[in-house]
Amino acid sequence: MTKIDLHVHTCYSSDSNTSLTAIAEQCRRASVDGVAITDHNCIEGALRLREMGTVRVIVGEEIRTACGELIGLFLERLIPKGLSPMETIRLVREQGGLVCVPHPLGRRPFSSRNSLGTVADGHYFPSKPVLSRNSLLTDEILGQVDMVEVMNARTAFESTWIACRHLADMNELIPCAGSDAHTLREIGRATVEIAEFSDAQTFMAAMRKARLSGVKSSMFIHFASAYAKVLRSKAC
Ligand SMILES: [Zn+2]
Repeated sequence: MTKIDLHVHTCYSSDSNTSLTAIAEQCRRASVDGVAITDHNCIEGALRLREMGTVRVIVGEEIRTACGELIGLFLERLIPKGLSPMETIRLVREQGGLVCVPHPLGRRPFSSRNSLGTVADGHYFPSKPVLSRNSLLTDEILGQVDMVEVMNARTAFESTWIACRHLADMNELIPCAGSDAHTLREIGRATVEIAEFSDAQTFMAAMRKARLSGVKSSMFIHFASAYAKVLRSKAC
């Protein structure tokens, strides 16, 4: 079995100062075997860390589409930002990559627990505020993606994790987990434990039996990303 954090940012994202050289040591400390590096609209950091060979890396990108964010995994080339979700998904697939919807119901610390939607007769119905916040939650788009991030350690409330799990189940999508680490110490706070894999196909097969675990990060961690944005250092 191998333990992977599927959502990690580095200093190649505009809101993180995590240096590539520190990541392997933090993974050892957190007993994490590998990371998906999912920088915002950038894969350079992921490619470099993979080349360094200090820790297992899945090259990913958190891509800003015209309607919200999607994560592409197992990429080799940059996916441009600003395209439609369907075009973005097509470009990820063209590379043999996988598509995930990160934090589908948001991570806002101050949103109401009751605003996420309801579950009735085994069906999950996102509320209107949720649907207006994330226009990726359409049948058309959800019908084309592989995974939904049901555990994002930066989410404010655990009730959001439960609602995300319903969303994944109702759309027959594989649930996944990631810390969304923008600081070093967050790495490993949400992970998947899966059988060994060698590529996107074997990864997907392993994900069907994944064990997800996570602990929420403090709400105040969001200030760290804002701080990183302001004091952004180019030196990685
Ligand atoms: Zn992220």
